[in-house]
Amino acid sequence: MNSISTAPQRLSQISVDILYTGGTFGMVDHGAGLRPRQGLGGEIAEALARFERDSGIAVRFDYTELEQVIDSSDAGSDTARGIAERVRSGIAERRPNGVIVVHGTDTMAYVGARMAFELRDIDVPVVLTGAQIPLGLPGSDARRNLMLALNSIAVQSVSGTAIAFGESLHPAVRASKRACDDYDGFTTVRECTPPPAPPRLPDIQARQDSAPVGLFTVFPGMHPSLLDAALRHYRGGLVLECYGSGTLPLHGSATVEAIRAATSRGTPVVVITHCDSGTVDLDRYQPGRAMRAAGAIGGGDMTREAALAKLGYLVDLGISGSELRRWITTNLLGELSNHAAIQPIPHTSN
Ligand code: ASP
Repeated sequence: MNSISTAPQRLSQISVDILYTGGTFGMVDHGAGLRPRQGLGGEIAEALARFERDSGIAVRFDYTELEQVIDSSDAGSDTARGIAERVRSGIAERRPNGVIVVHGTDTMAYVGARMAFELRDIDVPVVLTGAQIPLGLPGSDARRNLMLALNSIAVQSVSGTAIAFGESLHPAVRASKRACDDYDGFTTVRECTPPPAPPRLPDIQARQDSAPVGLFTVFPGMHPSLLDAALRHYRGGLVLECYGSGTLPLHGSATVEAIRAATSRGTPVVVITHCDSGTVDLDRYQPGRAMRAAGAIGGGDMTREAALAKLGYLVDLGISGSELRRWITTNLLGELSNHAAIQPIPHTSN
């Protein structure tokens, strides 16, 4: 799952589920700035007909839209789960060769990563795509990106959940939006190396009504009370995006004490790095060691999007404590390099 490979042959006919959720792809500007628009079915059908003509591949499709399409900056903590549920029930009903989700680019990597975890048992490719310039406007990349997504389904080059954008396909658990002025809006931050056999998560009874999970970035001048407030609000867990191999301003020891208080309340804290290369090593510097002693978990080399998605997914499954630590540091889909997954057991004082 979640790897991108070159498949030897392409299908001569495909069936595709297309779900339009919003984003620039279908936006219009009536003078107050770009905003999402419902009712894209006609234009999508037209684009598919053109794809059939140009590629010689016959397409059977099922098109649906969210009842309320959104600018994806409005995505909430439940958005990805809701989309994943729709994708899953469409697959169960129609068994398509693939699913295309048209989505805004701003949160596509966050939503895509969460969908990848939600749909980890699904063997049908799920491809998110969108655009930098709306369909029908001069210079629009909407059709081209849709074609890239369709092609990836025809050649079955994606397994798991991926983002098709510009020139490339990106495994969702390694993707990040890195440009708002370039057709190649996304990058694969680190190579995706899925485990040979996907590990089995514990059998879960039912989803919990879980506390919120969040993301906090450290910066020079950061006031410790901000971190403390984030840790109190996001009781379900916090991804803490630190510097380098896992450092943050100590402020005496105020930030570490805030982390200690949170972990003793049962709030997991997962440390990731701002860097696009390298991995968190909480043993390397004193602040990292202090965080580790306070109960923080090293998040290896996960992207911020994947770390937030994975933490939310595991917490929503009702996994906590040492089990959560175990699964956060286990490579499930390629979101974590295998070498980065090896984390020493912390020495906690409580
Ligand atoms: N604000 C838009 C969105 O994420 C940006 C885009 O789609 O490119 O919905």
